Amino acid sequence: MTSADSNPELFARAAVVDVLLPVALDRALSYRLPDGLLVKPGDHVTVPLGTREVTGVVWAFNPEAEGKNNLKHVIRRHDWPPLSAEMRAFLDWIASYTLGSKGLVLRLAMRDPEGRSEPRVRFGLRRTDVEPDRPTPQRLRVLAVAADGLVRPKSELARESGVSTAVVDALVDQGVLEPIALLPSEIVGQPDANFATVDLSADQTAAADSLCASVRTHEFSVSLLEGVTGSGKTEVYFEAVAEALRQGRQALILMPEIALTAEFRKRFENRFGVEPAEWHSGIATGRKDRIWGGVADGSVPVVVGARSALFMPFQNVGLIVVDEEHEQAYKQEDSVFYHARDMAVMRARQEKAAIILASATPSIESRVNATAGRYAHVRLPDRHGGRALPKLAAIDMKLHAPPRGRFISDALAAEVTKTIADGHQALLFLNRRGYAPLTLCRHCGHRWKCPQCSAWLVEHRFRRSLVCHHCGHIERSPNRCEECGEADSLTACGPGVERLAEEAAQLFPDVRTIVLSSDFPGGTERLRRELSEIANGTFQLVIGTQLVAKGHNFPGLALVGVIDADIGLTSGDPRACERTFQLLQQVTGRAGRGGVAGRGMVQTYDPTHPVMKAILSGDQEGFYREEIAMRKLAGLPPFGRMAGVVISSTDKALAEAHARNLARAGQTLLSTSMNERITSLMLLGPAEAPIGLLRGRHRVRLLVKGPRDADIQGFLRTMLATADKPKKDLRINIDVDPMSFL
Ligand code: ADP
Ligand code: ZN
Repeated sequence: MTSADSNPELFARAAVVDVLLPVALDRALSYRLPDGLLVKPGDHVTVPLGTREVTGVVWAFNPEAEGKNNLKHVIRRHDWPPLSAEMRAFLDWIASYTLGSKGLVLRLAMRDPEGRSEPRVRFGLRRTDVEPDRPTPQRLRVLAVAADGLVRPKSELARESGVSTAVVDALVDQGVLEPIALLPSEIVGQPDANFATVDLSADQTAAADSLCASVRTHEFSVSLLEGVTGSGKTEVYFEAVAEALRQGRQALILMPEIALTAEFRKRFENRFGVEPAEWHSGIATGRKDRIWGGVADGSVPVVVGARSALFMPFQNVGLIVVDEEHEQAYKQEDSVFYHARDMAVMRARQEKAAIILASATPSIESRVNATAGRYAHVRLPDRHGGRALPKLAAIDMKLHAPPRGRFISDALAAEVTKTIADGHQALLFLNRRGYAPLTLCRHCGHRWKCPQCSAWLVEHRFRRSLVCHHCGHIERSPNRCEECGEADSLTACGPGVERLAEEAAQLFPDVRTIVLSSDFPGGTERLRRELSEIANGTFQLVIGTQLVAKGHNFPGLALVGVIDADIGLTSGDPRACERTFQLLQQVTGRAGRGGVAGRGMVQTYDPTHPVMKAILSGDQEGFYREEIAMRKLAGLPPFGRMAGVVISSTDKALAEAHARNLARAGQTLLSTSMNERITSLMLLGPAEAPIGLLRGRHRVRLLVKGPRDADIQGFLRTMLATADKPKKDLRINIDVDPMSFL
């Protein structure tokens, strides 16, 4: 905190302030304050920018600029809650860590101020002692109802009296009824820490005690809460949330967006007596404004939200929970490239708060931090209530391949039939959207390609179209080959969930089946509804992509069949093994969470692959041991650091030339720098990106690698500053700690 923050007197004399604006600018701009306007850092102000008026945040007092005479004036100051010093420090840190533009980072933490809806004031009516000019029977009915002196909304008063609102209006005009402002209804009720406590098992109690103790210190600490699916991680971190409430502090629970289900809401309500305040893309704007305001003034103590909730204006946050911390959905790869889990740790540090990272399959990064003692490692070894983890078996597809064009082996089909006959639910999992990943012409071999991306088009039969999974390009499925003209020659290659559903309909004809895929129309709302229908047992067979794998509790689910367990292993991504392990562990862990025993059957062409062996034998520790050893040996994260640089343009030659230009600047820096934290780095590329064309832009990549203590940001900053300035239509995306290498 600067001294000026705590001493507004200093600012009374400030004449020039630096204002950060939520636009793609990397620094705050100086503005002169009009006479008599007092501001302090963190205040929201509106200023002129070109021909527009833009609202931003006062970042600093700038006495050096006072002599300048071409400065524009601040237009007005807003009474909104200021951005705290902790929040400003947090945003500064993100900008310097991610190399994102400061203004775009600020935008994450501002609630579109231009469109901010003023809180709507609602009015009610109350009887005065004025008498109406003519006592008609209708009017007398209104007066009889209003005689109790209560304040009622107009529509309600009219309804209770059995008259039209026009009759009521006439009485208001005459002063017989007077309008009174109604207090706004609460956005959410106040969660009660002690509403309904749960009897925790001994392990759960120990875990909860440790987490609650970390909340009580009012110091920064990180705990990795690791426990198999169904071990009670949610119950346990609810105790830490309760502790934060008892301490009079706020709590934030982050979740991958789709994990925010009706079931979770219900569990929160059961524990705390009210539904949680939610923050995600499905919440209406007006409500969002009120929740945002409630977080800022402290009247909303707990928020459950998707990654963007991390930037809400908490004044007094004592606990952050990152549920399913290993999830890739926490990584934002757009505008500002940040990992919400890592940034959450940083925010907790700024706020002197405890943070809990919860997962059944933690990221390698978090495991290494826990093992090294940087994070407390809190473990829940068993499923609650003595429920066994599902028994897993491999089906070796080299030996038991189904006939061509089919993807469900006989062994798996027999298990599905049996499971359903026993009255239980089965799930078939395939991590591929659409009907088939590749469509080609049977006659000439032509493959359908996206016109804007280097990617094959994926057939989506229910939409009768071919779709690009990278840019969303969609075209009608053709009747004839665009290359050789042959009619009806399209052939699907490989399986997608839609094709799997077709096969399942033939194999299991009278079974109530549902297919879930994130690209089906209806959006998150429909998905949430369908997920709760599955939990209620409406369907006997569920077919789905990875979104059914995540965090849901389907009590009747007894069997999980994995159609193609090897899909993720061939990607060449440094995290391919980790991701496959996590995904298979998560999806098979859906089985047997209710009363029934769970089974998992994993179709694989490579049952001896270390990941398959670890999954099948349930040797999670063994997997982490080997994977961590391998990462260490290869100097991969978290033992080494990486950053990706993607240079893109609609003009291929321009992108390539600028990438070479950057690489040259970088190599010169590496060979001339005297700083070991820079010379320890390695610069690879330029090379065409695996997706060389995306949305019509040609993409060239550089990759920077180095040891943990290297100054990767310092290097990137200097490299970017030394190279020629990028021309129009060139875009440079920097991705520090990349999760994707496409
Ligand atoms: P996780 O988050 O680790 O997957 P959950 O917290 O969702 O585990 O718990 C799994 C199931 O077991 C939930 O239905 C939960 O309500 C129940 N459960 C866990 N611990 C307890 C407990 N101590 N008493 C009663 N039910 C519990
Ligand atoms: Zn495309």
